[in-house]
Amino acid sequence: MQFDCISSSCVYNGPVMDDSQTLGLLAASGLRPTKSREAVLGALLASGKPLSHPELASRLETLDRVTIFRSLKTLRASGLLHSVRGLDGLLRFVVNPSRNSRCPGSHPHFLCLSCGTMTCLETQELPKIEVPVGAEVRGKQFLVYGQCASCAKAGAEARAPRNRGAKNKAKKGNEL
Ligand SMILES: [Zn+2]
Ligand SMILES: [Zn+2]
Repeated sequence: MQFDCISSSCVYNGPVMDDSQTLGLLAASGLRPTKSREAVLGALLASGKPLSHPELASRLETLDRVTIFRSLKTLRASGLLHSVRGLDGLLRFVVNPSRNSRCPGSHPHFLCLSCGTMTCLETQELPKIEVPVGAEVRGKQFLVYGQCASCAKAGAEARAPRNRGAKNKAKKGNEL
């Protein structure tokens, strides 16, 4: 597995993600298929979105948290996952992009501050960043945050009745 996230022209030579089964992905990256790796990878594939360790733990109640964390680290080291840190300090993990020869994680992410959902913005590439000579890059991330469409809509709907109520009250007030 080779990828170089420092270069903007990096090429990811890892497994191509399509509808392959969890076992196929583990085999392709040379990992022994343990129960926990299968479960963690399966849950992330099913989600299709980056999930934090606590989010995964609540979906995989039969596995203990330490085992899940170890599996995440192994899967990420193998190049199957990339991770992004949210404003809350929590890392979110996601299966690397499919149909995409770019290096994993070399795209911006969107974080909803209301529900915590993170989304990979895979079609956009991060710019090449020049770092001081001799500096060692360990990773890079670009996080756009705000409210996802459903939270923004829910917020607008929640505000609407109050606004109407306020208008009615004002009307009543004028009538008095
Ligand atoms: Zn949201
Ligand atoms: Zn991503």
